Amino acid sequence: MKYIGCDAVESSLYFTMDTVRSCGMGYNDTEWYWYKDYHGELIDPDLIKKKREQWRETFKSGKLIDQCKNCIHLIERDFEENPKINVLLIAHRTACSCCCYYCSFSKNPDWKRKMNTRKAYDIMPVILDLQDKNLLSDKLLISVAGGECTEYPDYEFERLVQFAYFYNYKMDIFSSGFNYSKHIEKMLNKGLANLVISVDSGTKETYEKIKRVKKYEQVWENIKNYSANCTPNDRFGQVTLKYVICKGVNDNKNEFDKFLEKCKDCGVKHVRIALEYDYWNNELKPQIESGDSISNNLLEFVKYVRSFDESCCDISILPTEFAGNLFNALDNDKKYFGCL
Ligand code: SF4
Ligand code: SF4
Repeated sequence: MKYIGCDAVESSLYFTMDTVRSCGMGYNDTEWYWYKDYHGELIDPDLIKKKREQWRETFKSGKLIDQCKNCIHLIERDFEENPKINVLLIAHRTACSCCCYYCSFSKNPDWKRKMNTRKAYDIMPVILDLQDKNLLSDKLLISVAGGECTEYPDYEFERLVQFAYFYNYKMDIFSSGFNYSKHIEKMLNKGLANLVISVDSGTKETYEKIKRVKKYEQVWENIKNYSANCTPNDRFGQVTLKYVICKGVNDNKNEFDKFLEKCKDCGVKHVRIALEYDYWNNELKPQIESGDSISNNLLEFVKYVRSFDESCCDISILPTEFAGNLFNALDNDKKYFGCL
């Protein structure tokens, strides 16, 4: 049946610290969980089926819950009756030796300590069980985004990569870039991984201001080595460098020019631009919602960034449900904007 629905509730499992959800939107106020109070139990296919049916009814009724209203992932099409899982989003861990000032885990030192020492469940038995139950699609994408994957204990990340490598599953890997991983290199080389490293800066000074660690040289050296081992395969087999725009810190042309120079030096051709979440949430969003035009220099900067499209980088800017009004300000170009 054709209706306006969403692939996340059809075929996506998003593992957080203590839940399994359909997607990462509406993080604190969603009603849509596959599992609440979750700690690594095996997934019950009947439960998935039952909840999917309930959520489909909501979509078909047109009475969307708040988190889904205006979401750009809404799509009108025929949905398959019994889809397999297409996306596993792995964010059950929180430990990370980086300390980005915009990271929700790093804002408060006590909280950071807690996030760095808390125990998390092992994801691999859950994934292997999904594979055994034949619930995973051939086109599975595994997105690893929680904490720093190269610092996962008990070789959990390495086991995950070996699993993906064996079955030719694609991976989005988010990393601080501090540790060079031969496993990531292997996935890049096989054209199976898109490695995203957020550097947010072109100079050492700004890097250290945002990341609050002294790893600038190490990270760029690792980026260069990863980049030299890529086998491009559509959007995989590549390194994507992310630049989160932080107001008053890195939102200037000098910093961005230096960043692009570093990208060229390292052979990186893909850049992703995002907005710092608080900047968007506390400042830009209310500004737009109250009907004001965006009065700061953000638009000018974003247009500047995008003017590099054809010269040296593919500028892709994350899409998200939040940015609808900003798209309008950017000449309705929905493809390319979003938040952290
Ligand atoms: S918020 Fe968007 S991505 Fe998440 S379930 Fe709703 S429509 Fe899908
Ligand atoms: S690298 Fe990621 S997890 Fe680590 S502090 Fe930065 S944003 Fe947080």
